[in-house]
Amino acid sequence: MVKGTVAVLVVVCSKCGGLLLARDEQKTRTCPHCSYKVDLHKARKVASARTAQEASTILRKLKSEAAQKQKHSSCL
Ligand SMILES: [Zn+2]
Repeated sequence: MVKGTVAVLVVVCSKCGGLLLARDEQKTRTCPHCSYKVDLHKARKVASARTAQEASTILRKLKSEAAQKQKHSSCL
C-alpha cells in the first residue's frame, strides 16, 4: 500500500493572501502572517511537496515570483 505521496501543501491564506505550509493530514492551519485560522479544505492550494524541505524551496520560489510581479505592476 502506497501511503500519501503528498506530505506538505503550500496554501494561500484566504484572509491575507499570504503563503503558508501545511501538513496533508491537517484540517486547519494558523496563518503565520495574520494569525487567521485557515481551513485547508477551502483554501487554495498552489503547490504540494513530499518533504518539508521541498515545500520550503517551492515557497521561496513562489515568494520571489510574487515579489517580481509586484515590482512589474508598480512600474506600469
Ligand atoms: Zn493570513
